[in-house]
Amino acid sequence: MSEKKQATDLNPFTIAQRQFNEAADFLGLDEATRELLRWPMREFHFQIPVRMDDGSVRIFKGFRVQYNDARGPAKGGIRFHPEETIDTVRALAAWMTWKTAVMNLPLGGGKGGVICNPKELSERELERLSRGYIRRVARFIGANIDVPAPDVYTNPQIMAWMMDEYDTIVGRQEPGVITGKPVELGGSKGRIDATARGGIYTVREAAKVLGLDLKGQPAAIQGYGNAGSFAHKLAVELLGMKVVAVSDSKGGIYNPDGLDYEQVLEHKKRTGSVVGFPGTTPISNEELLELPVTVLFPSALENVITGENAGRIKAKIVAELANGPTTPEADLILHERGVFVIPDFLCNAGGVTVSYFEQVQDAMNYYWSEEEVYQRLDEKMTQAFHDVYERAKETGVHNRLAAYLVAVERVAKAAKLRGWV
Ligand code: GLU
Repeated sequence: MSEKKQATDLNPFTIAQRQFNEAADFLGLDEATRELLRWPMREFHFQIPVRMDDGSVRIFKGFRVQYNDARGPAKGGIRFHPEETIDTVRALAAWMTWKTAVMNLPLGGGKGGVICNPKELSERELERLSRGYIRRVARFIGANIDVPAPDVYTNPQIMAWMMDEYDTIVGRQEPGVITGKPVELGGSKGRIDATARGGIYTVREAAKVLGLDLKGQPAAIQGYGNAGSFAHKLAVELLGMKVVAVSDSKGGIYNPDGLDYEQVLEHKKRTGSVVGFPGTTPISNEELLELPVTVLFPSALENVITGENAGRIKAKIVAELANGPTTPEADLILHERGVFVIPDFLCNAGGVTVSYFEQVQDAMNYYWSEEEVYQRLDEKMTQAFHDVYERAKETGVHNRLAAYLVAVERVAKAAKLRGWV
């Protein structure tokens, strides 16, 4: 394949549109609905000038895409990443639309991004960048318009600065404008590990329908950010699995006897990476994906399982905590080989589900216990898993397409009821 062709094929928005087209064909959607749902409804491109610690000014490029709000206000995180592009943000905003729909949350889909490397910014520079982002979008967001949240390389502290900047601009407190806030500032209990926890609940359901006993079985996790590290903790705690390999952007570690979560996390906090953790064999991110494990959790970025390596994936269940880790070519190969994929916008929907709970609590100004959050999350994830699983059984299509059928149908119905199409 020529380099150019491959670059086009791996463009996340091209992939998101291909996936949507397939679902639209299957559902027999009319032309207007297709055209409406194939593109973002609205998007913002802007520059964010930031005063750096040395007194100079740097100009960062930022985006916010409101993909669709037929079912409710746009909802989705903001990523800070050196390789961010508008097409990545568009794809992620589309996937948020399908995510909130498959979960049956009264929300639409959106996403934001800034091209930057947060690892090279000081704490104060990061704060100024976060506040600068909100100054650019404040007019276009709001609890009933578009609600940002954390994503890759953004966190509760960044959400706190963003909320504070928004409150300052509008001159009142409106905590529901942003989710993933610290619990002290109107955040929800259970939000911090919600993405991983929701994914673990779907793995538990998948094991049930497959008749698999996961106790003591090996798991591997690619990516050790918020989703991946909590997946390590919860795969052990809630499923009794043995996590034999984990990785981050610097590389991976493997120990067939299992890795201790607390110790690996402590090592990563101290050294900046999981690499070099004592008693482990170093492995690459690519090797990790092909390990003979029962559950594989791709928990980092897009396009890691492709037509090239899908034939070598040995996991029985691929639980996609990352957004967009599997290409359409790989989907077909995995389906043919009987690998059970829990598609991203179902598997990692725990984060936005607890974000929705956070908004509900902010609106009531009354907060739930951790147990209440976990129980409601479990109900939502279990219901969505079975909606998708039933659809896959009925139609014989792979799980991702089945999830698309459920989600696209719901968004199309809302657009129709509003009289848009
Ligand atoms: N960034 C997360 C996601 O991709 C969470 C979004 C949210 O909580 O709004 O689902």
